[in-house]
Amino acid sequence: MLSKSRENSKGFKTRQTPYTKSNIVSLGKSTITIGTTKYKDTNGGFLLEDKPEEDNKEPVIEDPLVDLERPECEICNKPFVKSWLFEKFDYKCCDSCKETQEYKLITKTEAKQKYLLQDCDLDKREPLLKFIKQKNPHNVRWGDMKLYLEYQVEKRALEIWECLERIEEEKEIREEKKSLAKAKKYHKQLKELKMSMRSSLYDRTTSTKHIHEFGPEKYNEEDDTYTRSCVTCPYSETFEKM
Ligand SMILES: [Zn+2]
Ligand SMILES: [Zn+2]
Repeated sequence: MLSKSRENSKGFKTRQTPYTKSNIVSLGKSTITIGTTKYKDTNGGFLLEDKPEEDNKEPVIEDPLVDLERPECEICNKPFVKSWLFEKFDYKCCDSCKETQEYKLITKTEAKQKYLLQDCDLDKREPLLKFIKQKNPHNVRWGDMKLYLEYQVEKRALEIWECLERIEEEKEIREEKKSLAKAKKYHKQLKELKMSMRSSLYDRTTSTKHIHEFGPEKYNEEDDTYTRSCVTCPYSETFEKM
């Protein structure tokens, strides 16, 4: 489904965009500003993900703009007045095409992992990719999740990686490097283990070959014995002299 929309958007690029950024249209309280990144319509009910604003009694503006002033849907090429995807993501896709296409949202973490993107690719590179915030379903205290439109993330990734195959190749390379580093670490640990085993073996052999070096003998007057102690180990012995 994505491939269809991409094909359509290619065709769209060759056409002249019917509005420019300076072309701003304002309509009283239910303001619809077209041409800026903020395209807002306060009429409730059309935002699928949001709660409908029940207390909003503003009248629905029927066909307030002429076709030339409206953004054009990249899928069906028809101009539209309001669009959830356009409002949230600056993606020119009308609400009826949104229903027929499958638009996946993707978390920032997923986007970075799946398409090998960095934060700056999403937050700094122009045009900045818009996102919606959603409570983390795993734990509300973890903070809001940033959800991006996967279609836009994929497009951004293609600007950087040129094709999806290269991303997969790069993933394999990184995976290989990772397992190589793991193997290296394992061999290093094994080597260290062997070394420590050898040195403990060395300790044992040296202890069996240890020859006491006795210090000066000490005479014990009360039982007429002598005591001598090794100067390099705790060994000491007491003996009699005939
Ligand atoms: Zn459409
Ligand atoms: Zn000794």
